[in-house]
Amino acid sequence: MDLKTLYRQVIMDHYKNPKNKGLKNEAPYHLVHLTNPSCGDDMRVEIIVSNGKVIDVRQEGKGCSICLSSASVMSDLLIGKNVDEAKALIHGFYSMVSGEELPDEDKLEEAIAYKGVRDFPARIKCATLAWKCVEKAIEEVEQHE
Ligand code: ZN
Repeated sequence: MDLKTLYRQVIMDHYKNPKNKGLKNEAPYHLVHLTNPSCGDDMRVEIIVSNGKVIDVRQEGKGCSICLSSASVMSDLLIGKNVDEAKALIHGFYSMVSGEELPDEDKLEEAIAYKGVRDFPARIKCATLAWKCVEKAIEEVEQHE
């Protein structure tokens, strides 16, 4: 199996069997809702941050397979990470999809499957939408602490 096939499989697995799907709509979850009008993606992400750690991430959206699967991969990757680590992973993901070489891209684990998005600039917003949600949610939670 070549790398592209493997990556496609990761994306399809998370699209068909999304992790951490469904919102709680209650405290202490903090919700951020963002859309990507260019594709019609609509994403909601909820997080709990406590003592500098991402305790939980929930996600729920409508949209394309890149967007929805990426939300699942993101939630799986960030749960249990400390906030600084999570921010570094989010920025690493942005760098990777925009075509930069990352020395420590292995840290992105399954999210590395979106590396090919760099060849399809119109899809970068699809791949990053859930990550923008969680980034904003972390910022907002930190502002209220
Ligand atoms: Zn999309």
